[in-house]
Amino acid sequence: MMKQQTAHLTLLPHHLLCIPHFTGHGYDAAFTANMTAVTELLRSHPETTVTLAPDCDDLCKVCPHNRNGRCDSQEKVTAFDHAVLADCGFSEAQTDTWASIAGTVRSRILLTEEFARICASCEWFALCRRIHAEKEFSK
Ligand code: SF4
Ligand code: SF4
Repeated sequence: MMKQQTAHLTLLPHHLLCIPHFTGHGYDAAFTANMTAVTELLRSHPETTVTLAPDCDDLCKVCPHNRNGRCDSQEKVTAFDHAVLADCGFSEAQTDTWASIAGTVRSRILLTEEFARICASCEWFALCRRIHAEKEFSK
C-alpha cells in the first residue's frame, strides 16, 4: 500500500494568528479561495508540517498585495512577524506540525493580551477581535 504524503506549507509567523480567525473574508476571490483551502487543510489535517517563512508564503503567493515577493505593507507585516516569533519562542524557518505550532500560538498569544497588542494596528482587527471573542481558543 502506498503511504500518503503529508502536506507541507510555508507560513509567515503572523499568519498563525490570521488562520484561526478566518471566516471567509479576504482581499479578493483568489486570495479568499486559497485561504479557505489552507484553513480547511489545517483543520482536517493538523499533522500537516509548517515551515515559518521569512517573506512570501503560501498565502502571499496569490495575494494582490504581493509585489514581486514583498508585501506592500512590509514594515507592518515584519513587526507582526517578529512579535509572534518572540512571544512563541519560535526560530525563523522553524518546521513543526500545525498541531504543535498552533498549540503554542494558542497558549502564548490567543489566550493572552498579546493577541490585541500584536493585532491592534491591522486593518482587519475589528473583525478578528469580534471572532476572537466568539471563539473558544482553549479547545
Ligand atoms: S487582526 Fe490582522 S494580523 Fe491579526 S489575526 Fe486578524 S488579520 Fe491577522
Ligand atoms: S502579501 Fe502582505 S497582505 Fe498579502 S497575505 Fe502576504 S503579508 Fe498579508
